[in-house]
Amino acid sequence: MNTLAPASADSSAPALLLPAQAERLISDNLACLPIESLPLVQCSGAVLRENIYGERDQPPFDRVAMDGIALDSAAVRDGRRSFSIQSIQAAGDAPLTLSQPSACIEAMTGAMLPISCDAVVPVEAISVHDGVARLEDGVSVQAWDNVHRRGSDSRQGALLLEAGTRLRPPEVAIAAGAGMARVRVSAQPMLAVLSTGNELIEPGEPVLPHQVRRSNVYGIIAALRRHGFQRVADDHVHDDREELRTRLKLHLDTHDVLILSGGVSMGRFDLVPTLLTELGVRRVFHKIAQRPGKPFWFGVAPSGPAVFALPGNPVSTLVCLSRYVIPALLAAMGDRSPATRKIPLAAAVTVSSKFAQFVPVRTEVDDWGRDWAVPRLTNGSGDFTSLAGTDGFVELPPGPNTYPKGFVTRLFGW
Ligand code: AMP
Ligand code: MG
Repeated sequence: MNTLAPASADSSAPALLLPAQAERLISDNLACLPIESLPLVQCSGAVLRENIYGERDQPPFDRVAMDGIALDSAAVRDGRRSFSIQSIQAAGDAPLTLSQPSACIEAMTGAMLPISCDAVVPVEAISVHDGVARLEDGVSVQAWDNVHRRGSDSRQGALLLEAGTRLRPPEVAIAAGAGMARVRVSAQPMLAVLSTGNELIEPGEPVLPHQVRRSNVYGIIAALRRHGFQRVADDHVHDDREELRTRLKLHLDTHDVLILSGGVSMGRFDLVPTLLTELGVRRVFHKIAQRPGKPFWFGVAPSGPAVFALPGNPVSTLVCLSRYVIPALLAAMGDRSPATRKIPLAAAVTVSSKFAQFVPVRTEVDDWGRDWAVPRLTNGSGDFTSLAGTDGFVELPPGPNTYPKGFVTRLFGW
């Protein structure tokens, strides 16, 4: 278990936050996103911000569930096996009325059950000659056979979807079934993803030996898109005080959330925290007792935008994004899906005792259907190529140096 007592690297250094404390500070400082009304076709993946109730009973009428003949089952119980076909009841037509128990009505799947009928015998169980349907030998008919009874699935006025539900395909169909042309959902936040660093070169551009690819932003945007965030701008800023100030100000004026990578450590060109403070962004915290990702900086601008300034080392960036930023954005959208999963370690892991440790893992299912987290060894927070094929990471709280196989802890997916 994570305790909430702050950890410090040594007794003279200021206490650093633990991950759970940082997580709470973020959620305390992140406003809920506004509501917008969207046409249903644009709502896949959105978070519902209103309850949706049944417009009518579901099904709304006694619904024919198979193509066949509709009849009065009492006639079969009385020994009748042949029924003259009176007419055809098609889906979408108002209901016909059976004229007499010796008759039947051809009825199509989805049609309203004709009046005075209480069962449907499927086409496969009858033969038809000269306008007369005959039940095959051995076919028995009970009341309400092959009829999907009105209101048997849900009743008019019943709560079908609760505010906070994420609209996946079934939920979108349910909202449509309830007659909703538009639904109230959380507005998509306007996100700006910014990389910082003179050394960074765009994929596709020529790269010199002293330069590196600008890879973090692509990982960040992939993760954001995967979680349904669509309004994502992308920018790059050099380690230049004036350029950084101008761009940060521009993005603070035009976005709800800024996600930065790089420039938050102790180097001479790590200008991000100072400039953010100069621009009036209130620092909520800087640094967490965790590896990787210790230099993570988080603050809120007086005008509203939240700023997540992630350390630039590629593993740190992705870990901080999945551990803090994405859950915070989902919570701001009102998503009430269950929190992270727990999983046992498939092998012992040895870590530093002073910091929470995020260990990349691949999840595996054993022959008994149990999930295990298989740790992936990496060369540290710069080694993102080793993350290929991992599913996420587990969080090991500060404490023992060695966590044994079977230790159950939180799993965060990419
Ligand atoms: P920084 O946090 O700016 O000190 O960067 C730490 C390390 O991460 C340096 O080796 C940077 O070159 C690298 N880095 C920073 N930003 C990115 C990025 N967007 N893509 C790939 N590597 C990066
Ligand atoms: Mg840098």
